[in-house]
Amino acid sequence: MKNQKISIAEQQAFPLAEQRFIKTCGFNLEREKHQRMMKMGLAVREKGIGGIDINALVSFYGSEAFSEGKVKAEGVEIYCNYFDQIPAEWVEGVYFYMLTVGECLFSSEEDIMDFLYADIWGTNYVDAGIEILKEKLNADLKERFPDKTLYLSDEFGPGYFGMPVIASKNFFQVLDADAIGVWVKDSGLMIPQKTCAGLYLVLNQPGVKAEPECMQCRGNVSGCQFCAVRAEK
Ligand code: SF4
Repeated sequence: MKNQKISIAEQQAFPLAEQRFIKTCGFNLEREKHQRMMKMGLAVREKGIGGIDINALVSFYGSEAFSEGKVKAEGVEIYCNYFDQIPAEWVEGVYFYMLTVGECLFSSEEDIMDFLYADIWGTNYVDAGIEILKEKLNADLKERFPDKTLYLSDEFGPGYFGMPVIASKNFFQVLDADAIGVWVKDSGLMIPQKTCAGLYLVLNQPGVKAEPECMQCRGNVSGCQFCAVRAEK
């Protein structure tokens, strides 16, 4: 599986995006005021929905793609601090992915609530798309390795786990982003902005969960071994 394009219907993602929208906005829908605000939020979605187009790309690599605490594919090396904690023999493969939702269109940045709600919808469609994509990857994993029980890791991507934002460029070497209309600026910022790229390790060990601090890791030159987060455990 290399550069497999997966399209996700907006209607499929909507219930998940809606749950997240309510949570992000902190709405309690038993309150009349929040019901009114939710109505406004739904109207913004209704107006902007034409811009939402959810597409993903996925490539699978075998266990050879993870060695010496690095993911290596198509001539690039991808590294983040957290990989230090994963022995190579736990890794059976790597899924690379990129997912974009386009954008929830809005009429004008001057109408701040329209702009804000449209932005929140865009982010929540990304998260909903990732959740659906992860289900599809789990199904693919079962087909690919019918005799093994394997687990997808946390999502590793630019901006998390000590991986710099500029590392997004590496994902463009691995995945044919043109196929889903995504490009990257010199800064590493992906366009459309409601796009994310990352990878999942396929693990043969259950319960490999990163500490919440690791997700926000700003990098530690000495690596995980000498990090206070691990010393505390
Ligand atoms: S926070 Fe510490 S333990 Fe966690 S990934 Fe970063 S360096 Fe490693």
